[in-house]
Amino acid sequence: MKIIKSISSLKKEITKNKTKNRRIGFVPTMGALHEGHLSLIRKCRRENDICIISIFVNPIQFGPSEDLAQYPRDKKKDKLLAQKEKVDIIFYPSKETIYPRRFLTNVEVTEISDILCGKKRKGHFRGVTTIVAKLLNLVEPETLYLGQKDFQQTVIIQQMVKDLNFNVKIKIGPTVREKDGLALSSRNAYLNIQQRREAGVLYRTLKEAKKRAESGKYTPQKIINFTSQTIRQESKAKIEYIECVDAVNLKKINNFYNKTILALAAKFGKTRLIDNITINGTKKNKTQT
Ligand code: AMP
Repeated sequence: MKIIKSISSLKKEITKNKTKNRRIGFVPTMGALHEGHLSLIRKCRRENDICIISIFVNPIQFGPSEDLAQYPRDKKKDKLLAQKEKVDIIFYPSKETIYPRRFLTNVEVTEISDILCGKKRKGHFRGVTTIVAKLLNLVEPETLYLGQKDFQQTVIIQQMVKDLNFNVKIKIGPTVREKDGLALSSRNAYLNIQQRREAGVLYRTLKEAKKRAESGKYTPQKIINFTSQTIRQESKAKIEYIECVDAVNLKKINNFYNKTILALAAKFGKTRLIDNITINGTKKNKTQT
């Protein structure tokens, strides 16, 4: 396994592998690797000749009052985990390598970046699309692997790839969870014992909400109310949003179409957690093809 820090060395490796017609799969991460990341890495490993991951805590996707400084970093452990999964290359650039002085360009997907998580986290998705666009240009993968946990991110990146004609296929892996259903996240480490115990309410409630929604007896608003009430009753979490949206265009829906997403964000103390579940409704959405 190679750990590459510079753009020139990475480019050399990419050119070498491209000349040999090797399929490159790519998993971008912010490190502090857990089973969620590893599930994507394993899929990438299985499906490609070369498996590349990046570890970069991207400063421009954090707001000024967010947790950039505290974000967990563990290079040694990440290296061991990546090695175990037979990753070929870890791209591990410095902040200066990615954003040299006079870095003046941003990539922004409008409309769908300002809703759901983007409403409170202004500029977050602009930071995400900018780094992913750069990484795609650097790594030139045939396939990009993303996690369903960050559902809005997957929709926004798919839109960017389509709009800007990136030559890459996107594959989305399912959310990996703890025993009680809590979605694995590097930020779970911030939770204290009580918050951690309470956080199980999120997925428990999403699952029950899905069951109710798929029974066809409830409107999306009723499902949102149920989800909100249950989370409030069973935890001290502060709900940031709970919404039922179309899985393709992220528009709020008034009816359960064949593919809709119930998504939420809630704060346990200072720790913001997100989760989502797919609802397979019975009604057909005319805007989907
Ligand atoms: P991050 O390091 O948080 O930026 O995540 C890197 C990639 O791993 C993203 O595509 C995430 O959606 C994905 N990911 C994070 N947590 C999970 C999880 N619990 N299950 C599946 N994928 C995940």
